[in-house]
Amino acid sequence: MKSKCLLCRAELVSEISWGSLFMLEKERVICVRCASKLSRIEGVVCGKCGRQMEGSDKAIVCEDCQKWAVKERQGYLQKNIACYAYNEFAKDLMTLYKYRGDYAIAAVFATPLKRKWMEMDKDMTIPLPISLERRKERGFNQTEGLLHLADISFETELRREHTEKQSKKTRKERIEQEQFFFVENKIAVQSKEIVLIDDIYTTGATLHLAAEALIKAGAKSVSSLTIFR
Ligand SMILES: [Zn+2]
Ligand SMILES: [Zn+2]
Repeated sequence: MKSKCLLCRAELVSEISWGSLFMLEKERVICVRCASKLSRIEGVVCGKCGRQMEGSDKAIVCEDCQKWAVKERQGYLQKNIACYAYNEFAKDLMTLYKYRGDYAIAAVFATPLKRKWMEMDKDMTIPLPISLERRKERGFNQTEGLLHLADISFETELRREHTEKQSKKTRKERIEQEQFFFVENKIAVQSKEIVLIDDIYTTGATLHLAAEALIKAGAKSVSSLTIFR
């Protein structure tokens, strides 16, 4: 049976020997062309949000994070680690993933996610929850699906609620007003080093809110791991 690229359906050219087949089986799910459009984050990154940085090899914080540190309560989330830059190709992929619930796309990111997750080595993994209403709409939490595929065990101690939309507020106020997180079983998160999992870190606002809820519930530290930054 010839395998196809999970993203563009092009046939995967077999350039592997029988000996290496089992080892590569899990890795080779997309073609070289698609893989080249994904921009893997490596080397120097922002110490806060995990964005790719150029040049110097010192510990640095990007401009966005510096601005945020002044304006926002950023202290709750220790740092974010991301696998890939959120480029045009990534945007197209996420559209497919979100609206079609395409598990093939999650499969592409399972291995790189697991690799970073192992490097982080935390006590407890929690996927960023979606609210009950969202879950009813979509049927499932895609981040949980991704973790299943990556064979990462997780807890679901965090709850997310949405309040009424208030259109007169500014965008930032809306983000804070419309959702909040709480921990049902505070004992479970007590003194734990937690890693939150989400698909994208954009402004980080949602992850920061979630981290705040966990720290206030007694967690020792909260970091996050996302596919894209
Ligand atoms: Zn492809
Ligand atoms: Zn940053």
